[in-house]
Amino acid sequence: MPSHVGSKPCSVCGDAAVYRQVYSGVSFCSACFKESIERRVRKTISKYGLLREDDRILVAVSGGKDSLSLLKVLAKIERAFPRSSLVAVSIDEGIAGYRDEALQLASELCRRFGVEHRVYSFEELFGSSLDRLVRGGELNRLGLGACTLCGVWRRKAISMAARELSATVVATAHTLDDIVQTYFMDILRGSFPRAPIGLRREGEGIIPRVAPFRQIPEEEVVLYAYLSKIPFQETPCPNAENSQRDMVRNFLAKFEAKYAGSLFAALKTIESNIRPLEGALKACQFCGEPTSRDVCRACELEIAVSRKITVGRELLRPYIGVDDI
Ligand code: SF4
Repeated sequence: MPSHVGSKPCSVCGDAAVYRQVYSGVSFCSACFKESIERRVRKTISKYGLLREDDRILVAVSGGKDSLSLLKVLAKIERAFPRSSLVAVSIDEGIAGYRDEALQLASELCRRFGVEHRVYSFEELFGSSLDRLVRGGELNRLGLGACTLCGVWRRKAISMAARELSATVVATAHTLDDIVQTYFMDILRGSFPRAPIGLRREGEGIIPRVAPFRQIPEEEVVLYAYLSKIPFQETPCPNAENSQRDMVRNFLAKFEAKYAGSLFAALKTIESNIRPLEGALKACQFCGEPTSRDVCRACELEIAVSRKITVGRELLRPYIGVDDI
């Protein structure tokens, strides 16, 4: 639960405040806070042209607080646009004792909001559950972390689902914190971000991905979920690793707590210095998904897993006959 619970009255209506937004100095009661989140999401969608009136929107729903909150907000916004439609998609990676609960929560919330819910599994799409690859020692042998494979395959699974369901756009629940963390990770690995995250980018064969929460801090999404009484999964994934992202997340959270508004400043500065990607995306030789390389990362990993080869540029070349992996 976020800690900035103020003792002042709500700056909007004068009722008892439940949250003080440190970076703006505004206090909110529960109702005005929820209203403010929904208003800011509408504003973000309209300011950046994230969604269109006739979009078929695929909402990627993991069952966690962020994605279920996004589902609620979009279900509310979408009602005003009769030519648009929503479909929620969850990916079942095959993580026993973890994903099942999340899928159930996602499915219940979809029923509550009258949104179609579809589940796609790693097993059906890629031929193996994550558990089997972890337990069988397959990932260790390949030198892959569970999260690396999981993240790449989940992204690909969402794209495959989007095509099958004729979605025109994919909405993900990335928050302001997630996006700034990713930019910092790029910079710390030695490359400047090459494209803004969560803004609509069209292109042949591309189903654009948008992040309607891109201007909402993570802690406000958490509070929105609590105040909206959205039941969400709190159990951590058993495969969660102490990742580079955790280190960046902790640093940025501490910095933001001391210097409120830093995340907004970082987002603005980084995005105003992004230069557009050079060269058009091409279709992956194997699956046809858009990629900047000849073979997309998801297929590269699928090949490595199925042929039990170590993941790497040199080792993959003879198997797939391309130079640009
Ligand atoms: Fe996948 Fe890692 Fe997230 Fe677990 S923690 S769901 S393995 S990305």
